[in-house]
Amino acid sequence: MSIVSERLTDVVREMFTPQGPLARATPFFQPRQGQTEMAMAVAETLENGGSLVVEAGTGVGKTFAYLVPALLSGERVLLSTATKTLQDQLYARDIPDVLKALGLPLKLAMLKGRGSYLCLQRLELALQSATLPDRQSVKSLAVVQQWARTTLSGDLAEVPALDERSPLIPLITSNRDNCLGSPCPHWRDCHVNLARRDAMAADVVVINHHLFFADMAVRESGMAELLPTVRVVVFDEAHQLNETGIQFLGKQLGGAQLLDLARDLLTAGLQLARGLVDWQTVTAAFEKAVRDWRLVAGKQPPNAKLRWNQPQPQGLDAQDWSEAMQLLKQRAIELQDKLETVVDAAPEFQRLHERLEEVLGLIAHFSDDCVHGSVRWLDVGTHLRCMEAPLDIADVVQNKLLNSQVITAPDADQAPVTRPRSWVFTSATLGSDDTLSWFTEPCGLKNAQVLRVQSPFDYENQAWLYVPRLMVSPKEPGHSAEVGDLALQVARALGGRTLVLTTTTRALRVIAEQLQAAVNDSAELVILAQGQWPKRELMQRFRDANKPGATGTVLVATASFWEGFDVPGDALQAVVIDKLPFPPPNEPLVEARSQRLEAQGRSSFNDYFLPEAGVSLKQGAGRLIRRETDTGALVICDNRLVSTAYGRRLLATLPPMKRLDQLPQLLQALGSITRT
Ligand code: SF4
Repeated sequence: MSIVSERLTDVVREMFTPQGPLARATPFFQPRQGQTEMAMAVAETLENGGSLVVEAGTGVGKTFAYLVPALLSGERVLLSTATKTLQDQLYARDIPDVLKALGLPLKLAMLKGRGSYLCLQRLELALQSATLPDRQSVKSLAVVQQWARTTLSGDLAEVPALDERSPLIPLITSNRDNCLGSPCPHWRDCHVNLARRDAMAADVVVINHHLFFADMAVRESGMAELLPTVRVVVFDEAHQLNETGIQFLGKQLGGAQLLDLARDLLTAGLQLARGLVDWQTVTAAFEKAVRDWRLVAGKQPPNAKLRWNQPQPQGLDAQDWSEAMQLLKQRAIELQDKLETVVDAAPEFQRLHERLEEVLGLIAHFSDDCVHGSVRWLDVGTHLRCMEAPLDIADVVQNKLLNSQVITAPDADQAPVTRPRSWVFTSATLGSDDTLSWFTEPCGLKNAQVLRVQSPFDYENQAWLYVPRLMVSPKEPGHSAEVGDLALQVARALGGRTLVLTTTTRALRVIAEQLQAAVNDSAELVILAQGQWPKRELMQRFRDANKPGATGTVLVATASFWEGFDVPGDALQAVVIDKLPFPPPNEPLVEARSQRLEAQGRSSFNDYFLPEAGVSLKQGAGRLIRRETDTGALVICDNRLVSTAYGRRLLATLPPMKRLDQLPQLLQALGSITRT
């Protein structure tokens, strides 16, 4: 690694000057005040240790602002992003670009979860298997087999023909439950192992938040060994840390997981110890207990989440629930007893025995009271899923991360040195107040240094904001239809190029169907709706609609499209938001968070619902202007924004766009940017 003799802050300042190395090496580099300010703050944190939280608006160039000091620091760096797509972009493009510009010969590695890598053992099994899920899987398997001969990384993202939702993927990747570990015949060539080895030998390792927290929870993906050797940790897209973290730091026990276990046990028993145990009878008894357990929850609305503040989930009979859990435990113990008679016969049995231990631990856990500071609920679908999650990650960040033992960096001939670790958390949206409390509070970072860097875009001249004052209230049943009407007028004025963001899947369906019905039988517009294709494909189709001769397109979407939908240029010139994105108050997690605040004497509306809505609104609005040359309109179909005091507070957190009060003004403005 490079050794820096000058102070890092001095070196970084020089890098960002108009005649500095970045400007000389990268023709497109333009010094930007906000970017330099952020880079200097990162450099100071790397010099002194501690935690820095930076909200850097769209267009600041935050990736360069943290990469340059981190790569120049001479320290081992861990970079975590929210998604595998961003991880690929950092690894394949951004970091190599900066390393080249700085002339640094650092070793770079990327580490993903094991589900991203081809498992050679399971590929072999899939090739032998006579039953694949569908014909497409047969074709995809042939492509994967061909690619497997030459790939060095084994990362399935290298196979574009393989849909990320393909049912083949679970058959050719491993999980903790089915990996054979060191007895595996492919252990030496295993892509998961090679990726971990590469990561341990690299100067800069790119991971994702899921992997980071999954490893904290189960310590099996290689991060546990990696973190102690790293002094600089950067979380990009840090706004997702809390929600990602709680998914992994809680506990889950699901019917699907139990049936998988029964199936794996039956397969292993029949293959490796046939005749020694009546495998069919014992696994069938266990499977029946799982099905009986499901029956206790009866018929429920789709995606029901039952609150669980008592020994049994809300609405279920206490005795039926307790008996079903008891039966599950009894059948699991019977399976375990049988397994013990053959456990030394094959490594598969050892692993199955461990899985049963885990299941028994979870049954005991969910038979007891919920852990203090967590919330528990029951998901009811085809299967049951017992869920328990902490309300936030504050404790874990403070006690396990910020206070964790700092690395030592021993050279062969030197005594170990202990130094403070540096943590950088950044995103375009981290809150609405000066302390960024929306982010820092649940992430245990109240004492971190905070920096807010405004977007360099000229919103006043690049964007219009229109709030239809006379539209019916979002609480009225006809609201979605009025949103659909307005979205159609906007899309017609622009010839497509419109993204409609909804807060619910119901509104998505209503609006998409309405638009579809309106343009049916004409070649006027193409209506795309989330769920028709994977997100990447929808984004591509939306961009392609801007090519000469293509039909203008409207995309109606919800949830994940409020962020990470990046369409710069005039392919996207209007974002229509159906209503203020408050969290659903009946969700068990939302309810538990607001109850905790009320119990502390705080207002759940002011301190939770409003900041959550503010951040989501900023993220949705942020889809519109992605470059200095972009123009367009943001339409928010919720008159609470202008008729209530809290609405006006939310409005003030948005970038300073030019306000339009009348629909004709909006349509005229859109007409002025429509291509001829
Ligand atoms: S060690 Fe595990 S992940 Fe690697 S090839 Fe074997 S079964 Fe697959």
